[in-house]
Amino acid sequence: MATVGCVGLGTMGGPMAGHLLAAGHTVAVWNRTAAKADELVERGARRASSPADAAAGADVVVVCVSDTPDLEQVVLGEHGVAEGIADGAIILDCSTVAPSSEVRIAEALADRGVHVVDAPLSGGAEGARNGVCTAFVGGSDVAFAVAKPILEAFCKTITHLGPTGAGQAAKAVNQIIISGTYASVGEGLAYAEQAGLPLEALVEALAGGAADSWILRNRSPKYIAHEYPAGFRTVLHRKDLGIAIAEGEAAGLRLALTRTVAAWQDALIAAGYGEEDSSALGRIGRGEVVPGE
Ligand code: NAP
Repeated sequence: MATVGCVGLGTMGGPMAGHLLAAGHTVAVWNRTAAKADELVERGARRASSPADAAAGADVVVVCVSDTPDLEQVVLGEHGVAEGIADGAIILDCSTVAPSSEVRIAEALADRGVHVVDAPLSGGAEGARNGVCTAFVGGSDVAFAVAKPILEAFCKTITHLGPTGAGQAAKAVNQIIISGTYASVGEGLAYAEQAGLPLEALVEALAGGAADSWILRNRSPKYIAHEYPAGFRTVLHRKDLGIAIAEGEAAGLRLALTRTVAAWQDALIAAGYGEEDSSALGRIGRGEVVPGE
């Protein structure tokens, strides 16, 4: 069993730390909003006073925060992970951020033998809760071997795709694909509603055919109820599409579908729905929010 520091205990990071405790690892936890650590501390985690403190003595420091600047702050900022982590230990970043940021952090810490493994996740809040996430992993073979047993505590599919940054590039692909799916399920179910179809029965029928998807199976109840509690917040998905669009543009790719969904999400955010689940794209399908107005 390993000694693990956990930094960021939100929708994803909180359950991940819980699974690490349940697997028998020695866990230290830190969250900016301290109260989110309470339950984990009751279950036996050590309450750390800073990211640096969470990293002290850890073999692996698991980070799961919102965005690229947040990652850089909790790792390289004052009292950050870099201040406390032992030489030769591993940062296992499960946030979804720009691939270039992972490489920058790895380069900043390379002379101390600290490895960065980027392992952004897919599977949503329930994937984290049930410990069945999918991880897209980037990092050296040696660092991946150390990180893998930690990931196994909360992932059912773990794929090593290349050096540091490769996990984030793969996650961008995932976010591009699901952007279209969230939008099209919203549009399809809006059409079904006006056609007077029995929606639950329709979803079951669709799930047996070519229109099947994780989003159709897991998010249809939200679209059908016209209620979109997070989940995976629209603002976070929009952040991910921004990463994909910027990286794609740098490589000469237009990513037209991704840009369209990003504009739709901008309209949702402007209308006050940014904290809702990504399935809030159903509001566009139903014409409740009209992009460009
Ligand atoms: P969340 O519930 O909003 O939690 C975000 C976490 O980051 C919180 O612990 C928050 O602390 C912390 N944080 C943000 N900015 C910070 C800063 N500047 N300094 C310190 N801590 C900071 O988000 P989440 O859903 O767990 O998502 C976390 C990451 O996983 C994101 O990159 C997201 O894109 C990715 N992800 C999410 C899902 C999903 O379905 N939710 C699925 C796959 C991947 P506070 O508690 O103090 O705000």
